[in-house]
Amino acid sequence: MKAAVCREFAKPLVIEELSLLPPEADQILVDITACAICHSDITYAKGDWGGTLPAVYGHEAVGRVRELGSDVKGFSVGDRVLVTLIRHCGHCSPCAEGMPVVCDHAGEGESPIRDGEGVTLVQGMATGGFAEQVVVHRSQAITLPDDIPDDVASLLACGVITGVGAVVNAAKVRPGQTVAVIGAGGVGLNVIQGAVIAGASKIIAIDLNETKFAEAKAFGATDTLDGRTPNLPAALRALNNGRGVDYAFVAVGVAAAFNQAAQLIAANGTVVAVGMPPSGHMAEYDPSSIAGGCQHIVGSKMGNTVIERDIPWLIELWRQGRLNLDGLISGRYPLEQINEAIEATLGGEAKRNVIVFEGAK
Ligand SMILES: [Zn+2]
Ligand SMILES: [Zn+2]
Repeated sequence: MKAAVCREFAKPLVIEELSLLPPEADQILVDITACAICHSDITYAKGDWGGTLPAVYGHEAVGRVRELGSDVKGFSVGDRVLVTLIRHCGHCSPCAEGMPVVCDHAGEGESPIRDGEGVTLVQGMATGGFAEQVVVHRSQAITLPDDIPDDVASLLACGVITGVGAVVNAAKVRPGQTVAVIGAGGVGLNVIQGAVIAGASKIIAIDLNETKFAEAKAFGATDTLDGRTPNLPAALRALNNGRGVDYAFVAVGVAAAFNQAAQLIAANGTVVAVGMPPSGHMAEYDPSSIAGGCQHIVGSKMGNTVIERDIPWLIELWRQGRLNLDGLISGRYPLEQINEAIEATLGGEAKRNVIVFEGAK
């Protein structure tokens, strides 16, 4: 199979011919038809989160099941599936609590990817979707209905669930509450539409790039603020009846944004950490404000998603026109042009570029 390989951090990916081990008893082999490019893929490829090389990244994938491991139930050969990075065992304590995104055994399992010399390549984020095929644990996949196109569905594997899930599952925003979203990029736009779905009364989008404001409003932001505004907390309160917000979502991987978020919340308010800065970057906050204001800081990984519960629900909202997926796609590229697609993403594009393979529906 053809795949885009990271041989050296911060260098273009290289298209190579690789092979996969056959699926083990609890794994499936999937022919990939679409894989969206996420900022996490780019952060890994730059080396900002460490890790070893060579690696195949890509974790927002859609494809068709080609082969099933001997113990796999619930899928048939030919099924269209969404493939996510949420590998989970189903029986550890976090899995039993409905938090498969932090499964104790998520990182286990050998990479099935080999190069021509038989060398094992890292299976980026348990998927390796920048390739014509993947072998993944059956828990990472869910079947898709016929009416959602491959490229549109691929967005549900990460960016959309990370944003909408942060609001609905992690923060549990109630109707009438107020929300600020720092970063109106791919994930931030989905936090915004998640806040609309949750019934938030104020959704204030904050970004350094004013060109993103029109898009933020199109996805449901009620107000926008330039992140460089002097005394940002005061400017935010002026938009919010003199109060801080109930929730400040940090949807960018920049430590300074976390410092800022803690200053934007009201008493009893919550900072929701969604973006992930490079390893070792630390944020600061005022503990006496947290204690004296009964404030909260919570983390949200992959929107605390349970794919069996959340993906069918989100597809239903998409059908009804209440979840904008199509508008999140900025471009479609063949695998051979993946470096151009990555460049375009780095150019400040708010939205997703999707690698589309032959046979995509
Ligand atoms: Zn992602
Ligand atoms: Zn588990």
